[in-house]
Amino acid sequence: MQNKTSILIIYTGGTIGMIHDPKTGILKTLAFDNIYRYLPVLENFNYNFDFYTFHPLLDSSNMHPSFWVELATLIEKNYELFDGFVVLHGSDTMAYTASALSFMLENLNKPVIFTGSQLPIGMVRTDGRENLINSIEIAAAKVEDTPMVPEVAICFENKLFRGNRTSKFNAEHFGAFLSGNYPPLAEVGVHIRYHENLILKPNFRKLKLHKQLDENIAILKLFPGIMENVVNSILETKGLKAVILETFGAGNAPTTPWFLSSLNAANEKGIIIFNVTQCKGGAVDIGKYETSVELGRIGVIGGSDITTESAVTKLMYLLGCGFSKEEIEQLLQTSLRGEITV
Ligand code: ASP
Repeated sequence: MQNKTSILIIYTGGTIGMIHDPKTGILKTLAFDNIYRYLPVLENFNYNFDFYTFHPLLDSSNMHPSFWVELATLIEKNYELFDGFVVLHGSDTMAYTASALSFMLENLNKPVIFTGSQLPIGMVRTDGRENLINSIEIAAAKVEDTPMVPEVAICFENKLFRGNRTSKFNAEHFGAFLSGNYPPLAEVGVHIRYHENLILKPNFRKLKLHKQLDENIAILKLFPGIMENVVNSILETKGLKAVILETFGAGNAPTTPWFLSSLNAANEKGIIIFNVTQCKGGAVDIGKYETSVELGRIGVIGGSDITTESAVTKLMYLLGCGFSKEEIEQLLQTSLRGEITV
């Protein structure tokens, strides 16, 4: 009894627990009070379950860094009591929350598996049932008493991805997530096949929670024809400490003089400029094309193959830690939680 695997299921909101309002046809969050009602199969698991529900429940479009702190704190408080954690979360911003938690939970040695669904769990064709059951199995899996997946991951439609490598890319398909630059950590079929060589190894150090997140960042997504006043209004935002420059292809940007001098001025003012590609696969390679050479000279930092979700949360985390500009620029090019290929 004492050694029975124990899993904490944390419900934050999202489609998985929503219902259709018959009057309006709109999907709304609903208390997921009796999970066994929808999933009597949970009683067949030989695990101990506990449940925690957030109030209010959120459609994940209302997610905020202050909520990431609440969620990470809840995991920290329960860290020694459970073998693994399953977080039910809306898919819209799941990649942001999973990325944020990967940075906030330093020395994580237990599974934190995010899942949700595209159809509510009360619907006949729901994908929520399978996603939740797979996530529980993965959160409980061990190799010689050590968790099989000691990291923050997203389990959706029979695939397990590293959380800070994913993006939501489909609003309709059950396979809603993409990890363009890192293969799945596991694939679910008749068996759950873990790709052990791709999964982070436990370091057996004490969990360290980082709660300070600094939101003074912006995303500047480039498009042909972007205007000078638009670029400058972002770069001149009061209090701005870092900007994610979403570039074309392998990190390329216009070579127009006004654009380069705006970036240069921002960099000289102490703003970190982080070059992240708009592509869902592949990496930034500053200097590969003429259209990125000048960015390198200005001091723009290459984001390698990081996702925008991971870039946002990594910057909030690093700025929150109080590092200097130079230290942050160095750490942005270092893989802290397996978020980039170096
Ligand atoms: N709007 C929902 C949310 O992200 C969508 C979902 O759960 O998949 O909360």
